[in-house]
Amino acid sequence: MITVRFSTSTSEERQQVFLRAGEVWDRVLNTAFEPVEVDGETLEGLVIDAAVEPIDGPEGTLGQAGPTVLRPGAELPVKGIMQFDEADILRLEQEGSFADVILHEMAHVLGFGTLWARQGLIAGSGTMDPRFTGEGAAREYAAISDEDGAAVPVANTGGAGTREGHWRELVFGDELLTGFLSGENRPLSRMSVASFADLGYEVDLEAADAFDLPSFRELALMGITEAVRTCTLCKVSRPIPMVLGTR
Ligand SMILES: [Zn+2]
Repeated sequence: MITVRFSTSTSEERQQVFLRAGEVWDRVLNTAFEPVEVDGETLEGLVIDAAVEPIDGPEGTLGQAGPTVLRPGAELPVKGIMQFDEADILRLEQEGSFADVILHEMAHVLGFGTLWARQGLIAGSGTMDPRFTGEGAAREYAAISDEDGAAVPVANTGGAGTREGHWRELVFGDELLTGFLSGENRPLSRMSVASFADLGYEVDLEAADAFDLPSFRELALMGITEAVRTCTLCKVSRPIPMVLGTR
């Protein structure tokens, strides 16, 4: 379903990281889409325009990632963008987190966090306890927590790119789709996979990684001890997607 296209400046090695991330999400999401016409091209799945190129040097912005064009009806992405600053990518490669950042950001291109508000899936927006109300994710959350049937806690701190667009880090720790990359393994939980079904994809829950809620001790060992901290992942700007045919 996912096709990644690269600008010529992106090295072969880096292209492979994007392609592997696309394969991971293709295993998780099985949805077949009707072909649609976008800018004179017939597209079936999701086409992501990717690039690693100089933007503003180390620090500053990490880049931009998100859906840019949505299908009519389902309003799921048919086109998206993942554009990163070479200087920051170099640092992520040295830290060994580049592949997980690409995997994480590709989730945003697919709609994780970026289409939630638009689809009315957030309750308690602006409060200290915002929740993701999708039924599938709530069911999987109930299976690992004692909050029976409750909606899923989402990030209640951080900038616009983090708050209400990720799972809450103090609850979910090293899960891949909290707003911060913590720990070493960064599992993709059944809850995350189910959240894509809540957006309208067909998903394979069996493609998820094993995941349990971390204890306070485990959170402390991951360095997650405060509710408010600054992150690199939130320094990614998000395009505002257009629904096809409404331009
Ligand atoms: Zn993110």
